[in-house]
Amino acid sequence: MTAPWHVSVITLHPDRFPGILAASLVGKALESGLWRLETYDLRAFGRGRHNSVDDTPAGGGPGMVLRADVLADAVDAATLPDDPRPRLCLSARGRPLTQARVHKLAEGPGVLLVCGRFEGIDQRVIDTRGLDEVSIGDFVLAGGEVAAMALMEACVRLLPGVMGADASGDEESFEAGLLEYPHYTRPQDFEGQTIPDVLTSGDHAAVARWRRDEAEKLTRERRPDLWAAQEELRDSKGDK
Ligand code: SAM
Repeated sequence: MTAPWHVSVITLHPDRFPGILAASLVGKALESGLWRLETYDLRAFGRGRHNSVDDTPAGGGPGMVLRADVLADAVDAATLPDDPRPRLCLSARGRPLTQARVHKLAEGPGVLLVCGRFEGIDQRVIDTRGLDEVSIGDFVLAGGEVAAMALMEACVRLLPGVMGADASGDEESFEAGLLEYPHYTRPQDFEGQTIPDVLTSGDHAAVARWRRDEAEKLTRERRPDLWAAQEELRDSKGDK
């Protein structure tokens, strides 16, 4: 049996894990040992009588910053000897997480994740511990925990044996550089809205064509950036 995909999370809120990740396919995969999760309580590495983990920002300004020495101790404790896992820090200013990156992470041995809080973390721990900053979107959360869970969930569902055979992810959003087509199921008539005829025609080629057209339309409308990349790809392949 191959080693489980191994996640170590450094957080001020270890009691909030696995949270939603204990549910459904991802939770079953955790139970059955396809992946493994351990948390490191940042408070346990705190300094002084109150186990302080943060301090005021050098140069002034609002909020608090997670201390480099505290976080470095936690990262070192969570790092295995010759640890091959990437060390990521959830960060609004990080490189955006993409489905391509999720695939790469899921193909590897696991990840070490650092959840920031307050104004963020001291730059020196990012530099000395080689943390790669990753963002889950252009918005600011209160902490890295929700982002860490999003990253874990996206990766774990791609691990071999997690998704059922009939739930292949091949046609999902981003897999082919497009957003996914719309879905319908029973009832046939919902408040006067019926299922498009083609989907109940039994003509598989027509269904595939319709889905492709809808996926392209949605991508053009909602994600001109993805659509432009698709067009570039098509141009480079010369199939225009
Ligand atoms: N001062 C930071 C900035 O302007 O980029 C925001 C800090 S935020 C209040 C606290 C923590 O939430 C961050 O250290 C990070 O771990 C997490 N966080 C916030 N937004 C995020 C995002 N879009 N993606 C990943 N993590 C995020």
